[in-house]
Amino acid sequence: MAERASWSLGAALRGVFGAKTIDDDTWDDLETALITADFGPDLTEQIVAEIRANVEKYRTTDPKDVQRMLRETLEERLSRLDSTLTLSERPAVVLVVGVNGVGKTTTIGKFARFLRTYDRSVVVGAADTFRAAAVDQLATWAERAGAEIVRPEREGQDPASVAFQTVDKAKRDGTEIVIIDTAGRLQTKGGLMDELGKIRRVVEKLAPVSEVLLVLDATTGQNGLAQAEAFIQHAGVTGLVITKLDGSAKGGFVLSVQEKTGIPIKLIGQGEGIGDLTGFTPHVFAQKLVG
Ligand code: GDP
Repeated sequence: MAERASWSLGAALRGVFGAKTIDDDTWDDLETALITADFGPDLTEQIVAEIRANVEKYRTTDPKDVQRMLRETLEERLSRLDSTLTLSERPAVVLVVGVNGVGKTTTIGKFARFLRTYDRSVVVGAADTFRAAAVDQLATWAERAGAEIVRPEREGQDPASVAFQTVDKAKRDGTEIVIIDTAGRLQTKGGLMDELGKIRRVVEKLAPVSEVLLVLDATTGQNGLAQAEAFIQHAGVTGLVITKLDGSAKGGFVLSVQEKTGIPIKLIGQGEGIGDLTGFTPHVFAQKLVG
């Protein structure tokens, strides 16, 4: 990405890093920029205190050192968890969970394409069986991505049976990766968690579940995280996918959500196009965030 990302702190911090010296304004401006970028109050306070202590320790007055220290601390914190996807099983089963509207279907399409570009064979299971439109949308994405799809035979078919059929097909065909779409109706939280539990139990009769990816929308930030709490508590989430970073000024959400949940970020979505999904690399992300 040549142009500056919307979630970069660059513009907000230009005044700080471009100033002649470090003074009290440095800390106020840094704090404001981090809060605005959705790092959350606690993390912001920790980061500012840490950099301030370092500035005092090394007796520097150069704002460029603040920039470097910020980049380093963000990279170090982002690297504390392992962002590598575990896809070594054959087939590797990936459940994708999250609240409706966060970009789950789009993410599955992009993820299928991402895997196809690495020459991995993919089958998608449409286990959100109550949303006919979502099934059609998923089928369109699968086709564009060059992946196979298993659709429900009728609307409202037991999601677990669609998941089972998908994994079964993968085993018969020798397909490497299975991606299962799941429902995200928040109104029926208890029922939804039971449904996910059943999908998992049924799938595990055929193959272990390699990843449970929770999709979160960066533009909703901390609110979105609160909405997804039930998934974090009950769905055995192994990785986070942050979508819609392209339209967001909330780059700090990526770190705050990882620290709050203790679950690594594994993928980030930055657009509606099929190629707009990438793996998560702390070094690259910190570099783009801070400049
Ligand atoms: P679902 O209900 O969770 O399956 O959500 P969808 O996949 O249908 O996505 C909801 C809306 O978000 C659609 O208009 C998508 O095009 C859009 N969307 C998904 N991911 C991204 C992203 O990374 N960036 C942007 N800008 N839009 C996205």
